[in-house]
Amino acid sequence: MKVKQSSKKHMTHGCLSQAEIIERLETSGVNATAQRIAIGKYVLSEAEHPTADDVKLWADKNFPKMSLATVYNTLNILVEAKLLKEFKFPHTGKVVYDSNITKHHHFYDEDTGIVSDIPLDQVEVLTKLKRTYNITDIEVVIRGSRRR
Ligand SMILES: [Zn+2]
Repeated sequence: MKVKQSSKKHMTHGCLSQAEIIERLETSGVNATAQRIAIGKYVLSEAEHPTADDVKLWADKNFPKMSLATVYNTLNILVEAKLLKEFKFPHTGKVVYDSNITKHHHFYDEDTGIVSDIPLDQVEVLTKLKRTYNITDIEVVIRGSRRR
């Protein structure tokens, strides 16, 4: 896959113009309809780890006629196009959508429910499983609260 100059901005939120969203959709083979552009702008550059319900709540305020099915369909299309990653929390089954498609860990704030990204190099995992398990990936969810 060719990496475009604009994808360098991927880690930062809130900086994608409508034109950049359209470009990103079309580069990934997604037909840029008005609804996909709108949801794409929200999930790819404004929201951070929203659930489908979060996206629906946002859509209700901005696009009152958008159905929950459309929201789910659009999220699925973005996931299939690899613009968005579906992240399911173990134990709770809570599903959030992640616009950071690079490998990273997560911090779950138990006070606010906010999920934030933790760069891979910030967590070191030691395991003694190497001899019995062939480990291909380690994804960590750290829970807690932020010190104020
Ligand atoms: Zn993330």
